[in-house]
Amino acid sequence: MAFLDLVNVKGANVIYHKDASLIPCPCRTSEGFRDPIWHLEHPNEIECNENGFLEDPSATTEFTVKGFVQPTGSPKMARYMLTMFDEFRTDDHVGMFPISWQGHDLDFANFDKSGDDYLEYDGKRFIVVGSVKIPDPSDNNKGHHYECALRLAQP
Ligand SMILES: [Zn+2]
Repeated sequence: MAFLDLVNVKGANVIYHKDASLIPCPCRTSEGFRDPIWHLEHPNEIECNENGFLEDPSATTEFTVKGFVQPTGSPKMARYMLTMFDEFRTDDHVGMFPISWQGHDLDFANFDKSGDDYLEYDGKRFIVVGSVKIPDPSDNNKGHHYECALRLAQP
């Protein structure tokens, strides 16, 4: 069975959230850095992200995609995933996702690692710390899918 058919039947629902926030926060210094002191002095202003940008709902992409998500349980899997994870944590997960789903393109190459962009699976948020595109032999290499290293986002 081709990957897309398989994931459609057996995959879990995963929320893909990508925040393309490009609205510079008023706190940004002339050098382009986020200024936490400005926020202390302006407690009623919205907190920006760690790069000094405010969330832009019109630029935020969120949709549900089918994917396979599982813990990096076995040592064999852990060794394989070491190419994507810098270190191991017991709650690290591996995810397999289509490159494109119902007209939405998944873009893990530009996925923010600070927590602004995340995948939500089983009620938990994960950041994508690594990803590779894998050719799918059952599609004669026409279709591809992503394999992703997922790390539990810090609340
Ligand atoms: Zn700010």
